[in-house]
Parts: sequence; structure tokens; C-alpha cells
Amino acid sequence: MDGRQPRAGERGRHEAATAHAGRNEGIVVFRIRSQDSACAECGRQLAGGDFLRKEGDKGLCLDCADLGRLEFLTAGDAALTRRAVRYSTLHAVVVKWSRARKRYERQGVLAEPEAIDRAEAECLADEEVRRRRREREAGRREEQDKAYVAEFARRMRAQYPGCPEEEARRIAGHACRKHSGRVGRSAAAKGFDSGAIELAVRAAVRHSHTPYDRLLAAGRDRHEARVEVGEKVDAVLRLWAAG
Ligand SMILES: [Zn+2]
Repeated sequence: MDGRQPRAGERGRHEAATAHAGRNEGIVVFRIRSQDSACAECGRQLAGGDFLRKEGDKGLCLDCADLGRLEFLTAGDAALTRRAVRYSTLHAVVVKWSRARKRYERQGVLAEPEAIDRAEAECLADEEVRRRRREREAGRREEQDKAYVAEFARRMRAQYPGCPEEEARRIAGHACRKHSGRVGRSAAAKGFDSGAIELAVRAAVRHSHTPYDRLLAAGRDRHEARVEVGEKVDAVLRLWAAG
């Protein structure tokens, strides 16, 4: 150990990793562990966590390797890294030897500070764009719901002009909830035919104008209970249809 070169074992690994990574990753820089290495050109001692660039069998500090103006961007945000690398004329991949896993692990990249700034700005803009889009979509859904309820109520009252306005709104709101939960909004128009409206109104009247729910609570068979309250339901519907 002359103090100017990485230790023999580390050197061997660096070479293997450089050869491996060199095929597709461009410049590789090693983040050294606590071993005492020194730059082969300027002699500066490199401490644990410092960067080391291999040139042939020489280990260089970043300044001597002409990578000194690059900035370290830690791994973890794939989109940010991808952009920083794309905008950087020069970049390096940083790896570190893992004793536990016995292999080199990617720590991040070295890229131009301006490229990292631009990448960060774009990623933040994306987040803002996504947030605004979510808000817009939520607003649109709410409007569609309101429009659906209003339209259902309007058609319902055309069919049953005698139905009190508040009750019509309640029935329409319920039909909309049921509809959006089970059928999906694309089928909205289907909910507006007179048969569907009659079914919704019939169900509502059964619950609010007859003892149907009490019969069910008492354990009565659903079909029997419907027959039992059927006449009462028909009477209310006739009354509402007449206006
Ligand atoms: Zn140096």
C-alpha cells in the first residue's frame, strides 16, 4: 500500500465493476468506504464517502478526473435522475461496494448542477400539473352528479307532476348515488327512460308511503310484502301521475 492507490482487493473490484458498468453506463465513480486511498495525481487523501474515479489502474479524485463540477444526486427518485442525466452533458454513475451483499450498489449519479435544477423544476411542475388535474377531475365528477340529479328530477316530475318537489329531489339523489356506484356514469342516459324512473319512484314510495320496511323488519318474505303493499304504491303513483 503506497497510500496513492486503492488497496489491492478494492482495486480488483473497481476494475471488475468498471469493466462491467462501462458497457452501458458510461463513466462510473466509486464512493469509497473508509479505506485510506489517495488521488494518484494530486496526492489528496480520500476519506470514506469521497468519490474516486478509476483511470486505467490509477485512482483519481473528482477534480483531477475533471468531474469536480458535477453534483451528487442521490438515488431514489427515478424520474428526477432520468431527467438530470438527460440534461447533463456529462454525468457519472456512482456505485459503492456493499460488504453485506458482496456487490456494487448504485448510490446515485453525478450530474451538472444546472441539469439537476432543471430536472427538479420539471418534476415539481409535474406534481403541480397532476394535482391540478386531480382537482379538475373531482370537480367534473361533482358537476356530473349534480347535472344527473337535476335531469333525473326534471324527467321524474314530468312523469309524476304530482310528486312533491322535495321528494322528487330526494328520490333523484338516491337514484344517482345508486347509479354512480353500480352502473358507472357512461350509462347515465339509461337511467332516464320512463321505466327506470318508474322503478326508482316505486321503490321510494314503497319505503316512505307504505309499511313495507316494517314488514321486512318483522321477517316477512320480500315478495309477499311487495304484493301486500302493491295497491297502496299503485295508488300513490296514480295520484302523482295525475298531477
Ligand atoms: Zn486529485
